[in-house]
Amino acid sequence: MSEMPYSYDAPVSQALFDRAAAVTPGGVNSPVRAFRAVGGTPRFMVSGSGPYLTDADGREYVDLVCSWGPMILGHSHPEVIAAVQDAVSRGTSFGTPGEGEVALAEEIVARVEPVDQVRLVSSGTEATMSAIRLARGFTRRTKVIKFAGCYHGHVDSLLAAAGSGVATFALPDTPGVTGAQAGDTIVLPYNDLEAVHEAFHRHPGEIACVITEASPGNMGVVPPLPGFNQGLKDACASNGALYISDEVMTGFRTSRAGWYGVDGVRPDLMTFGKVMGGGFPAAAFGGRADVMEHLAPAGPVYQAGTLSGNPIATAAGLAQLRLLDDAAYAKVNAVSAQIQALVSEALTKEGVAHTVQNASSMFSVFFTDRPVRDYEDAKAQESYRFTAFFQSLLANGVYLPPSSFESWFVSTAHDERAVQRIADALPAAARAAAEATQA
Ligand code: PLP
Repeated sequence: MSEMPYSYDAPVSQALFDRAAAVTPGGVNSPVRAFRAVGGTPRFMVSGSGPYLTDADGREYVDLVCSWGPMILGHSHPEVIAAVQDAVSRGTSFGTPGEGEVALAEEIVARVEPVDQVRLVSSGTEATMSAIRLARGFTRRTKVIKFAGCYHGHVDSLLAAAGSGVATFALPDTPGVTGAQAGDTIVLPYNDLEAVHEAFHRHPGEIACVITEASPGNMGVVPPLPGFNQGLKDACASNGALYISDEVMTGFRTSRAGWYGVDGVRPDLMTFGKVMGGGFPAAAFGGRADVMEHLAPAGPVYQAGTLSGNPIATAAGLAQLRLLDDAAYAKVNAVSAQIQALVSEALTKEGVAHTVQNASSMFSVFFTDRPVRDYEDAKAQESYRFTAFFQSLLANGVYLPPSSFESWFVSTAHDERAVQRIADALPAAARAAAEATQA
């Protein structure tokens, strides 16, 4: 087994990456896939089965990314594949209403009690963008509160994540987002209710909504402190604003009813994606009927999509959701806890300072011995240790998210054999993390 900190032994992936770079900016269709934070060659995957992925060089990995969350039953689950094959045999898109989208909407409404009505879209970004537009249309207000370190997709106004410590009007995080687009976004430190009260106090009657990840996974896993989400809900309620809980990542993963099923705080609007699409582009936003009725064609707030409610995506999502009963959640949570314990044990053995945080089966490993409560805490970790840890695991057949600011994901397919392969790879990775030095 290789203990090299960096692995460049992926010639076919490298050749594909070179080809990709000629025709696609940075060689990828979503930036984090390029491995820029960790270096080395991104692996081009050719197939997935259960907890495993196989790359173009023929190497197999235990997958701890699960397509960034959707594959909660593992890859190529036979019942999901059968549902897709059945749907695709009848055509791929009709641009008309269809029964599959009704059934998927009914399944979501049945699972998540605060959702009276739901609108299907094709990506989490579309879901949050549309929910913000609806909140502004409903309240006839302009400003939006979001939290530093929370990611809600690449919506212009929500890419304003800069600014920490004190409540500030955000500067855009990326060229192409104008000051005007970001200017109505107020970015606050996560888990800081006082900052939220202060923002409402400073902008009476101006704030349309607060949007938050139900339990953040995009700065690593940083669960809300007890009372934080309830405090947001109460602040919104007493100031005439809407509370939007972004459950694109947590929805149908952290419980049958997502994070709502864990903390019971009732949002006005919610967003979903990932698990509900079964690996296809499907997402949704939904919530209170009196708010949702403002959407076209029932109401004046426009929102639409050529492929919204696509029959293949809805068939895959519905098949996956129907398999996700309480036993499935118990299984995925148990295997996650087992892997968290193994990681912690290996790092402790090598004397590496670390903190493992989880939200049900979502978890991440921070290279710091202090609890991580907001984005500033997350950034204070020793990320260079993650790079060495990641590369060692990759070289030994374990595929982690290629960044220390991401959640790790497991599936019901992660069985004893897969866990053993992780356990076998961890000692060398922990040693690499211990020996790592800052570049
Ligand atoms: N919201 C959250 C919490 C997410 O984690 C993501 C993506 O990771 C999004 C929104 C955006 O979803 P998509 O990538 O499908 O546009």
